[in-house]
Amino acid sequence: AGFGFQQSFYPARQYLSAMTVEQKVGQLIIADISSLTPAELEDYPLGAVLAGGNSAPAGQRFANMETWLEFSKDIYEASARFPANVHVPPLFGIDAIHGHNNVEGAVIFPHNIGLGAANDPELVEAIGAATGKALIAAGQDWTFAPTVAVAEDLTWGRSYESFSSNPNHIRTLGAAFTRGVQSVSAGSGHILATAKHFIGDGGTQDGIDQGNAIMPENELVDRHAQGFFGALDADVATIMASYSSWNGEKLHGHQYLINGVLKSRLAFDGIVVGDWDAHAQLDGCIPSSCSKAINAGVDMLMAPTEWKELFHSLLRNVELGEISQARLDDAVLRILNAKIRAGLFDAIPPYQRDGAGDVTALSGKNVRSLARSAVRASQVLLKNDHETLPIRNIRNISIYGDGIDDFGTQLGGWSLTWQGDGLYKSLFPHGETILDAIKTFAERDNITVAFGEDAQHEKMPDIEIYVFDEAPYAEYYGDLDKLELPEHNSELIERLIASKNSNTRKIAVFLTGRPLPADDVFEHADAVVASWLPGSEGGGVADLLFGQTLDGRPLNFKGRLPFNWPTSDACRSAECENTKFEAGFGLKFKNTVPLRAAHSTHPRGIVNIVAE
Ligand code: BGC
Ligand code: BGC
Repeated sequence: AGFGFQQSFYPARQYLSAMTVEQKVGQLIIADISSLTPAELEDYPLGAVLAGGNSAPAGQRFANMETWLEFSKDIYEASARFPANVHVPPLFGIDAIHGHNNVEGAVIFPHNIGLGAANDPELVEAIGAATGKALIAAGQDWTFAPTVAVAEDLTWGRSYESFSSNPNHIRTLGAAFTRGVQSVSAGSGHILATAKHFIGDGGTQDGIDQGNAIMPENELVDRHAQGFFGALDADVATIMASYSSWNGEKLHGHQYLINGVLKSRLAFDGIVVGDWDAHAQLDGCIPSSCSKAINAGVDMLMAPTEWKELFHSLLRNVELGEISQARLDDAVLRILNAKIRAGLFDAIPPYQRDGAGDVTALSGKNVRSLARSAVRASQVLLKNDHETLPIRNIRNISIYGDGIDDFGTQLGGWSLTWQGDGLYKSLFPHGETILDAIKTFAERDNITVAFGEDAQHEKMPDIEIYVFDEAPYAEYYGDLDKLELPEHNSELIERLIASKNSNTRKIAVFLTGRPLPADDVFEHADAVVASWLPGSEGGGVADLLFGQTLDGRPLNFKGRLPFNWPTSDACRSAECENTKFEAGFGLKFKNTVPLRAAHSTHPRGIVNIVAE
């Protein structure tokens, strides 16, 4: 900090000195595009706009890259018409948390839990960079990622946003993602990342979203701060405050943790951004009024809807001295500095940057293949009796479980919609469901695949695949009272238990955002794979089931459990000693003999599987 801090803020100070108090106060607000038209930025000089999980330009449900880019242009141009001595363009932030997941047609990567299973910093950095390029393409500057939470209780609805129960892994992967995103140039600057949610979001009692993390400070530091240390090492530009509380005190009003620890002790000089109306949860605050959060060190309040009222009340807070001039200037300097880092003061606006409008950044061959390798790397083999996997030398497969042919299930929450609901196949022209990918292998190897109704009639398949899943969810919608497989899976479990044909091998696949107790499945299936929420490249799952690429290159499992796999609800937290598998567990194929894809007429039907 010290001298360097002053130096780096020098250009920001120049802008600051040219700004009116209205312009400064406007910087403290980030509003959602569902409650704002670009034209309103001609009158309100806001610091930033965001697109929340359910927000797309002009009230649409989802929008493609061109529409997002056009909207980004409208925002920038409107902001330039605000009468001022200096044009301070707004940042445009969005939850690009597993790829640019709000853009129709974009490739979607596995959720963090899968990346934690892969635990490969280079891979995560590459995904960060791909995400940054996708943001450039569609006209945004800022992603609200990485989440560096340590999910301590798997009933938490955001467990899948957590890389791991191991803080060291989170530290490394959080740093890698941040580096990747922020390596992407945006004119003279670069795309901005956000480490979130500061701090202890994953450590709340009973895994309740936005709840209370009760623990001593050394535990907060040893477990929940590690991801932030990683992000800070990678020079993360922004940090989002958590909805949650630490020992009963809400983070958005936490003087000690934000001003004292993060900004003073750790010398963080970027933006502390608030979460969605989270300031309103402080005593004495409402969505449209809250000096308390600003004074505790939050620099920019996320006021999705009541941003106009908030603007006027913050202005009054400043006039009355309830927010000091010094505090206002400090927050604005941080915001201006982040805008300089994002290249926003360049002569070339965001929508004309190198890479803007480049659709290959969203759905090109390279992005698809990166996503497919990420999916492969994230698969965890939990059981493999009788060398059931890789699938080979068979004639027919019966598949049960709708999730295998459903993008919603495969993607999870934060996928085009906040909850990941209402998705359908034609929205993913650049994706593949796991079922479709299996069919491609089957066609190559002359295997008959029966699914749904058809599978019910199959008497003696060589292989049965059972897919257990969770319907998509985000945030508190995913909180569970009890850690268990959702009810809709019970019929499938019964079928698995009842399937007694000794010539049929049974494979279970989990498409879940977290490990869930399923002792029956582990007992009755010959092979079990945790596939997590793999995203739009279902082919990566099929690749590992067949132990090879489509063109016959051998593949082996690399993923390891990022969390303990519980046996019962009593084992929902890491403290449990009676787990099915410990974090770190993961099998590989032992097979080194050449494998023959039976009945294959394909010239590459014979492959070599080697243990890694
Ligand atoms: C979530 C954040 C997210 C924000 C904006 C909040 O509800 O907690 O993680 O970045 O919304 O969508
Ligand atoms: C938004 C999300 C946000 C959530 C918070 C939703 O409507 O789309 O981004 O996190 O509200 O409640």
